[in-house]
Formats: sequence, C-alpha cells, structure tokens
Amino acid sequence: MTTPSIPDTMRAGRILAPRRTEVATVPVPTPGPGEVLIEVARAGICGTDIHILDGDYALAKFPMTPGHEFAGTVVALGEGVRLRHVGERVTADPNLPCGLCPECQRGMVNQCHDLVPVGVARDGAFARYLTIPERVVVPIGDLPFAEGALVEPLACVVWGLERIRVHAGDIALVLGAGPMGCLLLQALKASGAARVAIVDVAPARLELARSLGADLAVTPDDLEQLRTFAPLGFELVVEATGIPSVLEGAIDHARPGGTVWVFGVAPGDAMAKVSPYQLFRRDLNLIGTFAVNQTVPRAVAMIQGGSVKVAPLVSHVLDIEDFGEGLRLAQHDPDRMKVQFSFGEPGA
Ligand SMILES: [Zn+2]
Ligand SMILES: [Zn+2]
Repeated sequence: MTTPSIPDTMRAGRILAPRRTEVATVPVPTPGPGEVLIEVARAGICGTDIHILDGDYALAKFPMTPGHEFAGTVVALGEGVRLRHVGERVTADPNLPCGLCPECQRGMVNQCHDLVPVGVARDGAFARYLTIPERVVVPIGDLPFAEGALVEPLACVVWGLERIRVHAGDIALVLGAGPMGCLLLQALKASGAARVAIVDVAPARLELARSLGADLAVTPDDLEQLRTFAPLGFELVVEATGIPSVLEGAIDHARPGGTVWVFGVAPGDAMAKVSPYQLFRRDLNLIGTFAVNQTVPRAVAMIQGGSVKVAPLVSHVLDIEDFGEGLRLAQHDPDRMKVQFSFGEPGA
C-alpha cells in the first residue's frame, strides 16, 4: 500500500492508561483484506471517550487511540474491497459486529456478543489515518466533514427513535441540551413531535437549543414552566445526561401511557431509584437504547435533507497536537458543545 502521498507515520492522540494521554508519532496502518484506509478530516470527542479517559469503560484496551465519530476520505483499499473507492468522502458505523453470533443473526448487531468498537477496542480516528472494514463505511456525498463527523451520534438517536416510536403530535421533553440533546430535539421534531421542551443547567446551551427549534428551553429550577408547557405531562421524556438522579426525576414528567427513554450514558455501576408502582399505575414505558443499529445511512439522509442541523453543534475545532486540551474542554467546560479535531483537509 505504498502510495507516495501516504506517509509512513502520523500523529495520534493516545490514551496510555486511565488519565494518561500523549500525542505520539505512530505508524500509518495498512488496510487488511476487506478494509479501507481513511484519511480523517474531522473527528469529534464523545462522552464515551471521557469514560475511557477516566478508566470506567470496560471495553477499552490500553494503550489506545480513541475516536469513533469521524469523517474523511478513502485513500487506499485493502484486498477484495468491492464498493468503496479512493477519493470517496465517507463516515462509518464504528461498531464492528461479528455477523455470526445469535444477536447478529437476528439483526440486533448493536448487541453483538463480540462487538469490536473502533476507537475503544481498536485504534480510532484521533489520528490522521485509520483502517476500518468496508462493510461499515457509508458515503456522505458532499456533506462537509465537520457535519459528517456528527453522523454517528445522530445514528444513535435514529436507532432510539425506531425503538421508542414517536407519534404525530407528541409533546416531548429532553433532559440535557448538550450535542446529543440538541440532536434529539431536532430529530424528535423531524419525526412528528409537535412541541419539544429541553432542560439544561448551561444558559449558552439553552440559547442554542432555542435557535435549533426548542419550544421551551429552561434550567432545572424552572419546573413550573415545564408544568405550564405540558400540564398533563409529556408523551415522551428523554434522559440525555447520564446522571442517575435525572432519570429518577424523568419518570415524574411522563404522561400516563408515556415513554421514558434512557439515552444518556451513566457509569456502569450507577444505580437509580424508580417507583415500580408508578410504572405500573401510569402505564409507562421505560426504554433504553444503545449505540447504532444499521441507522447510519438514515442519519446521513436526515442531515443532507436539512431536517437536522449539525454544523451549529460544533463549538471547538482543535489540532490533534492539542489532544489533551480537547479532552479537558469536553470534560470540564459546561458551555462546550461538540469538540472536534481537524486534520486540515480542504473542506474540513
Ligand atoms: Zn460516541
Ligand atoms: Zn455478533
């Protein structure tokens, strides 16, 4: 795979062990059979990356290069690649299912027994190049790379929408107005929700949520406004913070017959108190949804069609040399939205 334009080494943001990071010069990987080499243009930091950094994500194998939300250009093909071509602008579903286990066989590939998440259990996109199997690569057409790198988070939302089912005219509540909350807000409206309220502690995030179509955007202190907005409760309440106490409160907001959707990623050992009686008495649905299940192409379509705007969600764009600073912003700046690394390609 020695093409003159592809160097032998590259810079990569690495996590060596919990809370230990560096930017290192590492070999550019060679695509194996069925794999493509992608030159990364943009890669976004996700909450999962912060869990890996903190050492509370069991699937992570150190030392490693994280990064699973990305877009870039195919620059080399491994043996036997059939549909992708050099020069193609792409993103990918970063979870590699085995295709053989009982969950894969029934179409629940996100629940694969041998799931290999790129950027978690194998090197990811916080480097100029990564290899990935062709079977999970999805073209993004002429979508800007910054937007292509937000396809994967939206694909998580789209998978959840399939499980929870929005009904035309539903009134929804999103708890958390980070990048995911703002994707949820827009995707719910695009799927038929009549009005959506959103809650966050950060005023800057609430302002952005309003500009993206939130009908009410308030802090958790404004319970009264939520009650006025939906006096009978919400048909749909989405927990998008990963904070257990927020889930506990979410159930109170649901209208009888409504659905509470657990979307935020809580620590693996966290517990929340819920009232079985309330679930029973008010005919509530409590539904969790995990990652992406063959929903990447539809996420691309939603962004291309304009029903979900992702460009305004990018608050910081950094060079990979500032890897540590990017992680710090993503973990500690309450106003930040999506932090991306740019590798400086045209159109990125
Ligand atoms: Zn993610
Ligand atoms: Zn499997």
